[in-house]
Amino acid sequence: MSETREPTVFERISAGEIPARIVAETERVIAFHDIAPKAPVHVVVTPRSGEYRNVVELAAGDPGLLAEIVEVANGVAAELADGDFRLIFNTGSGAGQTVFHVHAHVIAGALTEGSLA
Ligand code: ADP
Repeated sequence: MSETREPTVFERISAGEIPARIVAETERVIAFHDIAPKAPVHVVVTPRSGEYRNVVELAAGDPGLLAEIVEVANGVAAELADGDFRLIFNTGSGAGQTVFHVHAHVIAGALTEGSLA
């Protein structure tokens, strides 16, 4: 691959270059507490690689990896909450996306703000 780009913040977390409170890891996926939680449980689940910018690209390019994100999110919700959860993929800056490395927000409990935007 001839991809040349700066590592994303989530790639740097995955590499151990930026500290994070990690809650689950697989070979291809990492989950950690959001640095600015907007609910009692607010965990980011993301591929270790930032090659896909959003969930639409991920679904088209690697649906198995998307399924793995959902599976890890389900495990996080089972461990940290009662098993029920919201899974939010902000897609595009107009929808509040600020980190263009596909990630799911696992939310359990009441949102402390009206939205994730
Ligand atoms: P938004 O910032 O509007 O929620 P995104 O959907 O792109 O946009 O989400 C990025 C998320 O990543 C934010 O919830 C933000 O708090 C979180 N975040 C950014 N940097 C870190 C970090 N170093 N550790 C943990 N979470 C982070």
